This record gives sequence, C-alpha cells and structure tokens, in this order.
Amino acid sequence: MSDCLFCKIVSGEIPATKVYEDETVLAFRDIAPQAPVHVLVIPKVHIPSAAAITQENSAVVAHCFEVIAQIAAAEGLDNGFRVVSNCGPHAGQTVSHLHFHVLGGRQLALEMA
Ligand code: 5GP
Ligand code: ZN
Repeated sequence: MSDCLFCKIVSGEIPATKVYEDETVLAFRDIAPQAPVHVLVIPKVHIPSAAAITQENSAVVAHCFEVIAQIAAAEGLDNGFRVVSNCGPHAGQTVSHLHFHVLGGRQLALEMA
C-alpha cells in the first residue's frame, strides 16, 4: 500500500524507533506514548485491520503475539501489560494497517471503553 503510513515505516521511507524486526514482523515505539512503554507491533504485510484477518494471513498475527511476549520480557513488563488493537471508526482506528499496541510500565486504568 503506497499511501499507508505503517507500510512506509516498514519500507524505511518514514523513520521509527524500532525495538524488534524480523522477516515478517516489525515493532517500534509509538510517536505519542500513552504509557511508559508503548510499542506498536505490526505485520510487515499490509492487513488493514483485525477485521481483515483470515485463515490465509493469520500465521503472521500469531507471530505478532510471539513477538509481543518477547518485547514485554525485554522491556521488563513483569507486572503485566495490555495489548490493544483498534478496529474501525467506532474504536478510533487512525492508521489502517493492523497494529497491536503494547502498553505497560505503570498501573493501567481498568476501563475497556
Ligand atoms: P490507532 O489510533 O490506529 O489505534 O493507533 C495508531 C497509533 O500510531 C497512534 O497511537 C499514534 O500515536 C501512532 N502513530 C501515528 N503516526 C505515527 C508515526 O509516524 N510514527 C510512530 N512511531 N507512531 C505513529
Ligand atoms: Zn500498510
């Protein structure tokens, strides 16, 4: 997707502070962190949102969660963390490339909505 912000981060066209990268998954620090640790974990392939996960592309989503566990350990989130994926307008998704927010480093509010 040529006009996708996160595809541009994957290609290197837009810089990001990377914390993890392999052939299929990239993780980088959110530009506007909402917690002491706020990392975005994305598949390198363009998947628009959680609503577009299928049997064909779900292996990379599983891999995202393996990476999330590694990042949480590396960032010292031993007291816990939250994984969030906003999907569509009602959830406030602002970047249409599947991403998992990993938030931690302080006590997080209990509200889900
Ligand atoms: P959403 O609102 O779609 O769930 O999350 C998009 C996230 O991307 C937001 O938390 C926002 O701060 C982050 N973001 C937007 N633009 C950039 C950018 O250029 N670089 C980085 N690292 N994060 C960004
Ligand atoms: Zn994209």
